[in-house]
Amino acid sequence: MKKRIGIIGGGIIGSATAYFLSQYPDADVTLFEKNSIGSGTTAKSAATFCLIDDSVSHEFWSVRLFGFKFYTGLEKQMPGSTGFEQTGTLMVCPYREYEMYTKQAVALTLASGYQAEYWTDHDKIHQIIPDLNLEGILGAGWCPDDGFFDATMTANTIARLARERGVQIHINTKVTEICKEGNKVTGVETSKGHFDFDVVVDASGPWVRNVAKLVGVDLPIWHTKAEVFILEPTEKLSYPFPVLKYPRFYARKDKSNVFICKSHQSMDLNDPKHAGFWDPDQLPMTGGTDEYFWEFLTEQLMEQYPRLLEASVVNEWVGYRAEPPDFLPVLGPTPVEGYVLAAGAGGNGVIEAPTIGRDVADFVMTGNKSWYLDRLPLSRLEKLQYDSTGRLISKPGIEIK
Ligand SMILES: Cc1cc2nc3c(=O)[nH]c(=O)nc-3n(C[C@H](O)[C@H](O)[C@H](O)COP(=O)(O)OP(=O)(O)OC[C@H]3O[C@@H](n4cnc5c(N)ncnc54)[C@H](O)[C@@H]3O)c2cc1C
Repeated sequence: MKKRIGIIGGGIIGSATAYFLSQYPDADVTLFEKNSIGSGTTAKSAATFCLIDDSVSHEFWSVRLFGFKFYTGLEKQMPGSTGFEQTGTLMVCPYREYEMYTKQAVALTLASGYQAEYWTDHDKIHQIIPDLNLEGILGAGWCPDDGFFDATMTANTIARLARERGVQIHINTKVTEICKEGNKVTGVETSKGHFDFDVVVDASGPWVRNVAKLVGVDLPIWHTKAEVFILEPTEKLSYPFPVLKYPRFYARKDKSNVFICKSHQSMDLNDPKHAGFWDPDQLPMTGGTDEYFWEFLTEQLMEQYPRLLEASVVNEWVGYRAEPPDFLPVLGPTPVEGYVLAAGAGGNGVIEAPTIGRDVADFVMTGNKSWYLDRLPLSRLEKLQYDSTGRLISKPGIEIK
């Protein structure tokens, strides 16, 4: 008999999980999305996918590489299916630790067969973006092979491929209850009726804390605010705009404008301006950015890229990233038998979705835990770390100054 699996959420992670599950002949898969595929956090994403990057630490290099090859593979097979724009990434290094990290990223990129360089010559950096203020800058990493995707388009492509292999996809269908017998999941109630399942995979993004409560699981997953401005330069930029990364903010092109966002790694779960527990259903599609964000960006741009202040804000929005206290996803089994997590991807869900989908599917079908799942279980969060003033102190990775 086939294993019956329900997936909650049709963002990039739920779609990727459905896609990988569809490769198992013994899987009978149904995905529920309360709106449309890729309409949640995925729709608000910058979807930058940089080989040289600080957002996922180098411990997870294989995750980054598998994701990049997966999406670019789709793009190669079906041009236009992921919206990939190969703009390259410029990673600017204002201090030594960041420089060391960038050099390591360059080495890993080269070792993986892609192109990358580290430049200390400011003229070379200025060849990419002539308007940067490079005073005090140590150097920059440059990778011409990467760029950004269209995350909603990619989620829809992956979901379509899953559907073609037999996955049932119910859009406009909200999961309202997760049913249990004893401590075991038996199915879900939805706005369109009841479904029986052996396993339920929760890929509900920033809704996950509330969805997990349906099955009695309490998740220490915060929201961090991802605030975005789309800037239209007063005078059109005369150069192709790459993904531009600084420790505290990043930018990429958005047609002829610039998409700019505060970096995920610079968010502080102790700062109520950055983090909290909010209701993602209350988030409007556009608008809602805080004043502090504008002040923060003005200060950064004044220092690094004053030319970009000569621009008007033509669009803005806020997304909530689902953020565990160590800024790493929560994957695999929970104390409730058959309730499996594929959540908490924070600011890296586009990068991580293919590996999460592949490894969660393998766990569901075979019981095998990959290195990635073994590294990121829910149980690691049982003991949260606080300092003497009560501040949460579990963020790992490179220090952001
Ligand atoms: C501004 C911004 C910039 C970002 N930039 C990047 C980047 O450059 N690179 C990167 O890798 N990541 C980036 N991210 C993060 C990335 O976008 C997210 O990690 C990723 O989209 C999360 O995908 P998801 O599938 O977990 O969640 P979502 O896309 O939110 O999907 C969850 C889905 O579950 C559905 N759902 C919820 N509850 C229910 C229910 N009860 N029943 C049915 N359906 C339900 C929702 O409608 C939603 O569609 C960025 C995020 C933001 C906001």
